[in-house]
Amino acid sequence: MKAAYIEGNRIVLREVPEPTPGPGEVVVEVRYALTDGTDLKALLRGHHLIGEGPFGHEYAGVIWAVGEGVEDFREGDEVVGANTAPCFGCRMCRIGRYNLCENLSRNMVLGAYAQHLKIPAAVVRTNLYHKPPEIPFKYAPMLEPLACAVHGLEVLDLNGYERVLVVGTGSIASFFILLFKMTGHRVAVLGRNPEKLKVIAENLNPDEVLDYSASIGRYDVVVESTGRREVWESVLNYTDRGGKILLFGGLPEGTHVAFDAHRLHYEEIHLLTSFHHTPLSVRRALHILREHWEKLAFLVSGEFPLERIGEAFELMRRGKGFKYAIKP
Ligand SMILES: [Zn+2]
Repeated sequence: MKAAYIEGNRIVLREVPEPTPGPGEVVVEVRYALTDGTDLKALLRGHHLIGEGPFGHEYAGVIWAVGEGVEDFREGDEVVGANTAPCFGCRMCRIGRYNLCENLSRNMVLGAYAQHLKIPAAVVRTNLYHKPPEIPFKYAPMLEPLACAVHGLEVLDLNGYERVLVVGTGSIASFFILLFKMTGHRVAVLGRNPEKLKVIAENLNPDEVLDYSASIGRYDVVVESTGRREVWESVLNYTDRGGKILLFGGLPEGTHVAFDAHRLHYEEIHLLTSFHHTPLSVRRALHILREHWEKLAFLVSGEFPLERIGEAFELMRRGKGFKYAIKP
């Protein structure tokens, strides 16, 4: 079968053997995989969890082969899942910090840009779901990034905060806008890509749409979703006394950031980060996606066959569109 690999900073389609499922594993025939910002980062500057090799981790498809001992899935079942699952045995898992599982990279789904995709046993047990029939295959792979945004919301714990600013115009920013609207917050979005701001405004109806030429007020909660150092360092300017900042977009290893310590302390502004997802946030995301996938459908900006995956990432690199559906 054909599978897309990262080699250097290029995408290469390789002919590789069909995967076969070991005990507890399944192999999924991928109907659609979605591109995302993490894959783009891995391609352009490397990523410590992805590295070189087969990539793609947002997938939906049909069970093609089932390993020994798998009871919940049969050949032909329609499924969608997350890209990792906790081991439930390490120290982080024992204290309930499942997103920080020390064995995350051992139980990782990589290689969704391919005809067939092997799902590790830990993911089959915890984070693989029967796809709700309401969600089309093309949109179901949003489950994984949506679960990361849901986890961000769990970290924020928003009791007592009302005005929210989301900085960024990507799919993660869009997920946050939807989630904050659902929870009754007043939401502003700030970004520098006018085309995407317009599309977000039309589809998600945020209360305020701001570009950098506007005068930007201060908010109770500010979410950074761009993964750019200068944006991390700017968000304190938009945060009100007693506010919270969620730094969501990861930066390359070795990056240092600076903040006004006086404001952080004397105005009790909380700096928070969130990484990845937990089994609970995946489950919550599945329910949210089942109810709201149509509102999020605009995030799939186009579709390419696997052979043309390079064009999808070139559009992503140029800031054109949000996510692209890859059809193996
Ligand atoms: Zn663990």
